[in-house]
Amino acid sequence: MGERFDVAVIGTGPAGVSAAITLKIRNKNIILFGNKNLSEKVSKAHEIKNYPGLPDIKGEELKEKFLKHLSQLDIEITEDMITAVYAMGSYYSLQSKSSKIYEAASVIIATGVSFEKMLPGEKEFLGRGVSYCATCDAALYRGKSAAVIGYSEKEEAEAEFLAEVAEKVYYIPMYKTENAFSENITVVNDIPVSVESDSGLKADRLVLKNQTVKADGIFVLRDSVSLSQLVAGLEMSDNHVAVNRNCETNLSGCFACGDVTGQPYQYIKAAGEGNVAALSAVKYLDKKI
Ligand SMILES: Cc1cc2nc3c(=O)[nH]c(=O)nc-3n(C[C@H](O)[C@H](O)[C@H](O)COP(=O)(O)OP(=O)(O)OC[C@H]3O[C@@H](n4cnc5c(N)ncnc54)[C@H](O)[C@@H]3O)c2cc1C
Repeated sequence: MGERFDVAVIGTGPAGVSAAITLKIRNKNIILFGNKNLSEKVSKAHEIKNYPGLPDIKGEELKEKFLKHLSQLDIEITEDMITAVYAMGSYYSLQSKSSKIYEAASVIIATGVSFEKMLPGEKEFLGRGVSYCATCDAALYRGKSAAVIGYSEKEEAEAEFLAEVAEKVYYIPMYKTENAFSENITVVNDIPVSVESDSGLKADRLVLKNQTVKADGIFVLRDSVSLSQLVAGLEMSDNHVAVNRNCETNLSGCFACGDVTGQPYQYIKAAGEGNVAALSAVKYLDKKI
């Protein structure tokens, strides 16, 4: 069994970064999941006018300051997307895109909000022809066909990986790409509408706005996982995680902060809640000992 961390922080926006900083200062053994570019919602901001002490800072500069702060505290970023979190009683088990399982006594959800809606049929056929992870499920499609909806350029590597195993891959990019792909990958520039099935047992086609792609497997590769899929049993309120003023959720030892808990969607609110969630996690851990 691997190491069991005190706290797993999921997300590297201002909320997750702030939580990780406070936890580290409070000497907790943490693991921070996200990406080394932190958050596009930070790096892509043209100019930020309302972050105290940093007037007129560009998003890219704020990102660099966050990275420097993490590095000064020796906080590493684990670039692995968490796909499911399970409450196991005295700890949490976290499943990831790379198929690794992590364990932590408590969890802070700081995943931000995603405005991409699930496709009709996606939830219904998840695990029955619909997958979120090419690395995990490629072997199921040996010699078969797969359709891959990629929401960012990095998913092209996942489509290539599938193409090594599957006979035919249809890649539907949700962004502009002019990159070259392997021979058995056909790029389809169209808009996904729904996932459907003749038998009702297993998804067998992806309906697009202008055509239908028949495929044995349909991979939906987004930068985030829908919250209702991420943590089983988590109470929601208006599509956000329901929390109290201490950033506690309905699950003991599970905290949430930032955009994920609701509006206003603001850096300083996210960073402030990250701090609150971290201190609540510290209290929770100290009580457990
Ligand atoms: C262009 C733009 C300009 C903005 N300008 C301002 C401004 O001037 N002032 C202001 O206050 N606010 C501004 N905002 C709003 C601000 O960006 C958000 O409120 C803030 O980034 C929220 O922080 P967060 O940490 O909650 O989430 P995010 O910044 O969205 O970060 C979430 C992180 O979690 C990661 N993640 C998600 N799911 C998983 C998973 N399952 N496993 C691992 N990692 C995961 C994501 O990749 C991301 O890194 C702006 C937003 C945009 C888009």
